[in-house]
Amino acid sequence: MTSSTPIVPSLIGNSWKLINTEKYTNVFNPATGNIIAKTPMCDSMLVSRAIESSKKAFVSWSNEPATKRAGIMHNYRSLIKENFEDIAKLISTENGKTMAEARGDIQRGFEVVEFACGIAEHQKGESLSQVSENIDALSIREPLGVCAGISPFNFPAMVPMWMFPIALACGNTFILKPSEKVPLTAVKLVELLQEAELPEGVMNLIHGGKEAVDTLCTHPDISAISFVGSSSIAKYVYALGSQNGKRVQAGGAAKNALVVMPDADPEATLRAVMSASFGCAGQRCMAGSLLVGVGDIGKSLKDKMLAAMDDLKVGDPLLDLETNMGPVIDKNSQERIAGVIDKVSKEAELVRDGRNLLNNKGFFVGPTLFTDVTPKTTIFKHEVFGPVLSMMNPKNLEQAISWINELNYGNGASIFTQSGAAAKEFRSNVKCGMIGINVGVPAPMSMFPFSGWNDSFYGDLHMQGNEGVQFYTRQKVTLTRWDNTYENKSGW
Ligand code: NAD
Repeated sequence: MTSSTPIVPSLIGNSWKLINTEKYTNVFNPATGNIIAKTPMCDSMLVSRAIESSKKAFVSWSNEPATKRAGIMHNYRSLIKENFEDIAKLISTENGKTMAEARGDIQRGFEVVEFACGIAEHQKGESLSQVSENIDALSIREPLGVCAGISPFNFPAMVPMWMFPIALACGNTFILKPSEKVPLTAVKLVELLQEAELPEGVMNLIHGGKEAVDTLCTHPDISAISFVGSSSIAKYVYALGSQNGKRVQAGGAAKNALVVMPDADPEATLRAVMSASFGCAGQRCMAGSLLVGVGDIGKSLKDKMLAAMDDLKVGDPLLDLETNMGPVIDKNSQERIAGVIDKVSKEAELVRDGRNLLNNKGFFVGPTLFTDVTPKTTIFKHEVFGPVLSMMNPKNLEQAISWINELNYGNGASIFTQSGAAAKEFRSNVKCGMIGINVGVPAPMSMFPFSGWNDSFYGDLHMQGNEGVQFYTRQKVTLTRWDNTYENKSGW
């Protein structure tokens, strides 16, 4: 980092600020290893200023008609569309995704904005006339107040956009604290909100780490917190926020299995497995990291995987548009993943070793494959968050399901089969919240909840869809009595 490295701006109130602090985190282009910006680590005082401005803005924003809030979301939708390619390039630059993956990242966020455009419909309450003698009941959904979003590095657009479009559309004000590793996409997303004519103070953008997060979790003027990241921090944020009286939803880590039955369509299955395992260099909470070949298909599945892995082009996604796997996020991640490969190679057979790219410029790890992994192997229960796939070979579907149910996490699991009976058995008996049937990454669209279970999610209401609207609103129920005869009693 040099003195000319640009500081990532923060939006506090309605002015963009370049915070001068002693503490910064470097933002890299992971494909080159070059530092491209520095993220200021905001202290508690700065975070409190953002909260204060959000609290002030809530008074008028929460009273704006639903049609006005929806109108701003419509403006935002158009602006995201116009700036789609620029945002995708930004994602690729600071995160290392291929352009196709970066477009997928922004597309999924865009779909949440489209959902939020329909807020007048989604936020509608319920009513029942004559709920009791001459009494009518009406329930409405009111916004909560100042909400905060804390997001991870792996989806710089989609994850923040699971949060703020619905929160804002419901009438809340919002403070976003993106990952300090990928703050530039967040800056662009917030600039576009301003351009969409969101009023002053309704959206604030701060940067930082533990101090900023702790302030958000404990400040009396924060009503709700949406968090996505590793499970240990998700659990911590859930506990701290809840103890301080906030509503919290916190998505955590995952270990997702891809079960291949002997009757699966080989070509379609292979395509889906390759994309689920090595897409985004394995840095997805829905990444397939356990490849479970049922019965006697193990050897043939392994040979086909090795051939497909030979065809994966790993490189700098912006230099070579044919690249289909980019780098991991930083040096720490690269070294951590190399350490995992080293350790697991003593327990399972390493049939393809991605450590050959460690000395390249940038933070690359090549696609890696282990076979003979069992529930006893250390990698079985642990999220690697890199391009490392473990093959398992249960004797039948029943054994595959019982192995999957030993996992502590509960994001996704997929089955590849042509049998409706096998698919039904799988869907009914696997204990996790998102199931794929001939789909490798069963991440739900914006109108459904992103439904992690167990240690993949702490809270009650998930992000996206109607659960998102419920999370960012609370119900007010009014009972009204009108007698069925009218008498003028104004005399008293
Ligand atoms: P992370 O937990 O390191 O960071 C997430 C956020 O927490 C960041 O904003 C970071 O600044 C903040 N943070 C970091 N340390 C903190 C601390 N000690 N106290 C308070 N806040 C702290 O996660 P990451 O490495 O950015 O992201 C990868 C993880 O996110 C993976 O485990 C992945 O599975 C998970 N993830 C989950 C989902 C989901 O929906 N369940 C989606 C995407 C990613």
